[in-house]
Amino acid sequence: MIRDPENERMPRKDLENVQLRRLQARAKDVYEKVPFYRKAFKERKVTPEDVRSLTDLSRLPFTSKLDFRDNYPYGLLATPLNRVVRIHSSSGTTGKPIVAPYTQSDIDNWSDIMARTLVTAGVRSDDILQNAYGYGLFTGGLGFHYGAERLGATVIPTGGGNTKRQIILLQDLGTTVITCTPSYALILAETALDMGVDLRETKLRLGVCGAEPWSEQMRNDIEERLGIRAVNIYGLTEVVGPGVSVECERRCGMHIAEDHFLAEVIDPHSGDPLPYGEQGELVITTLTKEAQPVIRYRTRDIVSLDREPCDCGRTHVRMSRVTGRSDDMLIIRGVNVFPSQIESVLLEVEGVEPHYLIVVDRKNAFSSDELEIWVEVSDNVFSDEMQKMEKLEKRLRAEMDSVLGISARIKLVEPKTIARTEGKAKRVVDRSEVAP
Ligand code: ADP
Ligand code: ZN
Repeated sequence: MIRDPENERMPRKDLENVQLRRLQARAKDVYEKVPFYRKAFKERKVTPEDVRSLTDLSRLPFTSKLDFRDNYPYGLLATPLNRVVRIHSSSGTTGKPIVAPYTQSDIDNWSDIMARTLVTAGVRSDDILQNAYGYGLFTGGLGFHYGAERLGATVIPTGGGNTKRQIILLQDLGTTVITCTPSYALILAETALDMGVDLRETKLRLGVCGAEPWSEQMRNDIEERLGIRAVNIYGLTEVVGPGVSVECERRCGMHIAEDHFLAEVIDPHSGDPLPYGEQGELVITTLTKEAQPVIRYRTRDIVSLDREPCDCGRTHVRMSRVTGRSDDMLIIRGVNVFPSQIESVLLEVEGVEPHYLIVVDRKNAFSSDELEIWVEVSDNVFSDEMQKMEKLEKRLRAEMDSVLGISARIKLVEPKTIARTEGKAKRVVDRSEVAP
């Protein structure tokens, strides 16, 4: 059974009391047990006793991905290694991977959090859940697996890949829920179509998708192609893995599991906390993790927070869709854009497939005058006369300019020519990585 389900609906005052108590315990923990934190606290001239209210959180030091790397592998452990029962590692999208160790209590908590998260997403104990997140070092596979089992759903642990087999299993076993990255959901739809299977006619009804940025337009596309409701879920290895936040049935942002994760949004340049509603970098402090608690982890994910009570009755704060990571931001003639913004413009245009590549010149880092975007077009547009292609290209260029204020060279490519990835999609590539 899931512990603490009522925590989601606690009055804010009570929730804040729980948070403060847990924060004080964690601050004490890391100060006493992790030399890295003790040093960082001392540099900021704070001690755990200085944490008297939740606003004192801003006095504590930040941690960053670099600190994880500098202390690799066990430097941030707050428990003896023999209490650690499992170690995961980040997928290393942005460099050397980092490790995440868990005690048994951490695994139990995470399973409870994930079970509650899946319920919020709409999963029930009588669902048949096909888990197509990668198993192994990546937190996705086992995170969803344990949560779904704890909830009592029937889990089919397919992992990512082997797509044809997945489609067959999905039909044969009567899968009702698919859990995978948004890009893999599209691969499933595409492969099914090739096999002559219409996923809309199967029992599949729900997708719990995350681990990478995706736009509202991408969601529409996935929902239509798979005939499901697609729910956004967010998490990161440094903090726990999946389960940090998820959308409820109201779809007005993702509820953060605030009894376990304390969230702030800061100005990424000054480090100052920003008021609710303003967009900035999400910072998370873990409140219950034992093996490797983190204090004020700078996620680099750009979001805003909404504390207004949600119609669903949950009191936990909601975070907006992640526009992107601060390090994925492109600067085109001084205009800042995220790949996901480009995606939302592309997918508004008819004849465009949800597969694209943003080609940059690494020589100029991510800053340049013009951008090249490769876009797949649908079969019927591609086989049509040249004129139609030219019109589409012109339209996309104009949309980029009018909506995002950037000039982009558009290259229309044949259907299925852009490489598909089974885990997280790679949207931005260097020119040297693609044929001219
Ligand atoms: P890596 O940093 O190697 O990719 P993780 O698997 O821990 O390793 O990835 C966590 C990151 O994935 C988050 O910080 C965020 O950037 C991204 N992410 C996860 N879920 C979502 C989501 N629902 N929407 C947008 N981005 C997401
Ligand atoms: Zn809600």
